Amino acid sequence: MKKIAFFCIPAHGHTNPMLPVAAELVRRGNIVRFYSFDEFEKKIIPTGAEFISCDSFLPKLTEQEEAGLKNVSTTEMTVQDLRITLCMNDFLDKEFKSFQPDVVYTDSVCFWGKLNAWKHNVPMVVSTSTFAFNQMSSEYMKHSPKEMAGLIFGLPRVSRELKKLEPYGYHIKGIFSLIQSDNATDSIVYTSRRFQPYAESFSDHYAFVGPSVFSDALPEKEKNRPLIYISMGTVINDRPDFYKNCIVALKDMNVDVMISCGNAINLEDLGELPDHIQVRPYVDQLDVLSKADAFITHCGMNSVSESLYMAAPMVLYPQTSEQYAVARRVTEISAGIMLKDDSSKGIRATIQELLNNKAYGNAAAECSADFRACSGTAGAAEFIENAPHTSDGIDITAELNKLNAKFQLLYWLIIIATINLIGFLVSWKYVWIIGITAGILSTPIFKAIQKRKYTKLTQKD
Ligand code: UDP
Repeated sequence: MKKIAFFCIPAHGHTNPMLPVAAELVRRGNIVRFYSFDEFEKKIIPTGAEFISCDSFLPKLTEQEEAGLKNVSTTEMTVQDLRITLCMNDFLDKEFKSFQPDVVYTDSVCFWGKLNAWKHNVPMVVSTSTFAFNQMSSEYMKHSPKEMAGLIFGLPRVSRELKKLEPYGYHIKGIFSLIQSDNATDSIVYTSRRFQPYAESFSDHYAFVGPSVFSDALPEKEKNRPLIYISMGTVINDRPDFYKNCIVALKDMNVDVMISCGNAINLEDLGELPDHIQVRPYVDQLDVLSKADAFITHCGMNSVSESLYMAAPMVLYPQTSEQYAVARRVTEISAGIMLKDDSSKGIRATIQELLNNKAYGNAAAECSADFRACSGTAGAAEFIENAPHTSDGIDITAELNKLNAKFQLLYWLIIIATINLIGFLVSWKYVWIIGITAGILSTPIFKAIQKRKYTKLTQKD
């Protein structure tokens, strides 16, 4: 029997996969204390875990900060995460002293969980509700120039918040050490090795346990006409324009439609609905997906995993870089089609293509079988109970980091030598062009070399 402290940020997509794990740990006789927020109390209590409300530690937000969070600004989320950590410091110091957890199980972006596990020297396992992202797999995330600018200009604000934590015993190397998946940290990822991009780059500290869901139900697709399910998730779902386009696209088709639109929408704004189209603020998504023949999704990791678990192929409509990464992986296994045109005409054409070509459904069914063969919540519980873990295998990311250091040194030595040679022998006038070109080319050249090395290293295994 172990005492396990769960920590998560206030988000359904991050909390949901931790719930079956909590229930399984309690069932096996462990004591689980779940530090969360009032909105999730009703979901946590049935797992048998003790619910601890952390709402009083949420800082008051200005209008601008609230807008930043609503737009999923990475800088704003990071800053608020660090502020909550500071607000919770005294409380968690006392909790760690009185509860004395044997293991901390914390969401990967829940900084107060991670930082307190480190501060109080408690073995930690990280819950990763997206793909695990390192220097290889993050290639799947394409940040827009606006996102990149937001990240760069947000860094000074983030480092100011980090500094405020120093006097309280939180020693942090840098924000990236808090965010990135590294090969020395015990981590649970709710997908299969087959679906995780560059799975071989992750060490034995990673357990790929498959989707963490409460349902044992099998896909059940037999019915008179296809069922189409539509959801934009629980965070950015205030999209009446998109739901209206879906309704126009599907109103004359011989299908049933279920739309989950969240609480931010006034259902009357969607107009008169035909009988075969239903709209709800929230549905039992796994139940709907078990019967669905197509899912129009924003590509949140949980939604996509649940869809594949229930063998439902997808129309992919990602909105953030992380969702693009998930969508890209779905297209690679041919279980979905990217929605390129979100007009009613584009939606209808894409749905028709998905329904008419059985290959998409078959690929989703294949992935469902793969997910169901994973170790699941029992595997996750066992991994947490036995933390900390060791890893004997080769650390591929460490090898790639060494390669990077060597490459940068050699590359810039050659460039400096070339600049000097041309400067002395020809002219100094245009050498800046060489410098800029070299700077632009260094990343793609290194990425190509890194990929070759990765293939070589993983083939050896
Ligand atoms: N969900 C649900 N019913 C709904 C809409 C969403 O149960 O009507 C659940 C869904 O099953 C999933 C989570 O909410 O577990 C959404 O997580 P995801 O990572 O897909 O997206 P996010 O909401 O974090 O953007």
